[in-house]
Amino acid sequence: MIDKKQVEITGDNHFSTNIETPLRADAFNKTDDEKIEKIQHYFKMIMEEIGLDITDDSLSGTPYRVAKMYVKELFYGLNPANKPKLSTFENKYGYKKMLVEQYINIDSACEHHFLPIVGHAHVAYIPKDKVIGLSKINRLVDYYARRPQVQERLVLQILNDLQDVLETKDVLISVTAKHLCVSSRGIKDQSSFTTTLEYGGSFSKPEIRNEFLKIIEKESLGF
Ligand SMILES: [Zn+2]
Repeated sequence: MIDKKQVEITGDNHFSTNIETPLRADAFNKTDDEKIEKIQHYFKMIMEEIGLDITDDSLSGTPYRVAKMYVKELFYGLNPANKPKLSTFENKYGYKKMLVEQYINIDSACEHHFLPIVGHAHVAYIPKDKVIGLSKINRLVDYYARRPQVQERLVLQILNDLQDVLETKDVLISVTAKHLCVSSRGIKDQSSFTTTLEYGGSFSKPEIRNEFLKIIEKESLGF
């Protein structure tokens, strides 16, 4: 029996227990097509349960569309097989200053309510021996965003991977996003948004962090 009060508290506090997304051991035993078929079946039952006539032409395809969207688009980032290859290169040109990839699109979903989290990420790093193709950063952000998420965990997951492949702690991730579970239900606050920031290495120094913040600030002013 679930404790309904505790369930609401967990959701409204957006409480997360672990940096790893909690996955079942058998999470990927089924193929995508098998998952789509199952989800289609269950989503049809949800629609019927809320009272919709699924035989209506406009609604009959909805269970399939939702199932396909879950597996192939919104939550494709759950499956490690879909993780982008993060190939790096030797830092041959010896670029050792900050690189900032700005306004990376975030399309995610809150794991407590399955409602959209939309916004953007900024990623900064100071290369040592390795550099990474810019689009790989965008792809990695998208991969971790496309799963039921908690914004704090999203930032940590991206940070950990980039620190690993770049072989440096000098990485910073910030995400600013709007949570539809805050704006369209619960407190129904339309104007608020959430910023999370995590970093390591040189970014622990305020002067380095300020350099990053100045770059971001200028960009938002339209320079
Ligand atoms: Zn939520």
